[in-house]
Amino acid sequence: MALPPIFQRDIPEEASEALSADHAAARLPVGAPLPEAALPSDAAGRLRGILSEAASMPADPVRSSDSLRLRDGHQRALTDLRLSVTDRCNYRCVYCRTGNGGEQFTELPIAHYLRMVRIFVSLGVEKVRLTGGEPLLRHGLLDLISEISRMRTAFSGTPLDIAMTSNGHLLATMAEDLKRAGLARITVSMDAVDPETFARITRVPNSFERVRDGIRAAQRAGLGPVKINCVLLRGFNDSQIEAFAEFSRREQVIVRFIEFMPLEEDRSWSPDTVVPMREIVERLNAMRPLVALPAHHASETARRFTFDDGLGEIGIIAPVSEPFCGQCSRVRITSDGKLRTCLFSQLDHDLIGLMLKGATDDEVISWIQKVVLHKEARHHIGEPGFLKPSRGMVHIGG
Ligand code: SAM
Repeated sequence: MALPPIFQRDIPEEASEALSADHAAARLPVGAPLPEAALPSDAAGRLRGILSEAASMPADPVRSSDSLRLRDGHQRALTDLRLSVTDRCNYRCVYCRTGNGGEQFTELPIAHYLRMVRIFVSLGVEKVRLTGGEPLLRHGLLDLISEISRMRTAFSGTPLDIAMTSNGHLLATMAEDLKRAGLARITVSMDAVDPETFARITRVPNSFERVRDGIRAAQRAGLGPVKINCVLLRGFNDSQIEAFAEFSRREQVIVRFIEFMPLEEDRSWSPDTVVPMREIVERLNAMRPLVALPAHHASETARRFTFDDGLGEIGIIAPVSEPFCGQCSRVRITSDGKLRTCLFSQLDHDLIGLMLKGATDDEVISWIQKVVLHKEARHHIGEPGFLKPSRGMVHIGG
């Protein structure tokens, strides 16, 4: 089969070392003040105020009634918040970005994200996943994690589950700081284990070695079990399925294959590019007999497998061929502070606009409760009349 056109673009000359040097400033020691230059001056002042207020606050009283939980119009409890902290990314993955444009949306002062997280936690959010763009590029990320790690779930008073999705390029030097700040675990996106293929996908030379070292550093730092997300595209990287299974067994990471969704900046998606779950299972099973593993919880998106000798773990996330919208527990906040109720929403809801107008927490809460009532029942990928969402994955936060 001929390669899709997206795989035929060249890697630009830019060197990965230059990229990482540019972005080294994203790292701040835990507790260190944020550089004023990283924030608008009024935001820096407000952030200091919020951080010291948070430090002196008693733990939130644990709420007793589950009826106060945030629910959508389909009675799904919304317990999972995905927060994009930047629209910038140092990779230009060919199935995600055009390769021509950079960021399209602004990022907010950390203090605003913190207020949003605190409000959602008060409504029953238990899991916060930081994403982007590339979250490791974000100034003040460690402070944000550190503050979120001090919050407690509203209904059981336990620590939040704080996770991150990253391309791993800067992870080798940041893993320990992330762990110390309070990050519990990390998912690293990696779409090939063959270094040359990987560099062609990311358009960054030597990226495979960087990411592999980042994964190992994350494991050493205690951010495991590290999950690896691989988006499979037909005729593009589907030759990597077996090699990924070996990688999972060798490196003791959980490899999750994800079906390609129509969320790219370009128009490269078609049903033919999707590698369906059934085919992945058949190919892995031909390597060694697969054994299904039980789901951790009802809203888990991945079907889990190991091999007959118990070595390696594979997850398959099949939003296209086997949608799981009925169990969706997610809401998303974009880097520019818009609330999205579904990856495939046509609408952004202006959360930051409301906050900047001076809305109180109670006003923000009742606005959120109304917005999520209209959370989409499901996506309509592959159906006649399907409309691409108003933003691509990288500008929403995956
Ligand atoms: N930069 C971070 C990273 O690389 O993980 C976070 C942002 S990235 C947009 C989040 C995830 O979305 C990645 O795992 C990426 O592979 C995935 N992704 C991007 N476009 C996708 C698409 N069209 N379908 C499925 N997953 C996609």
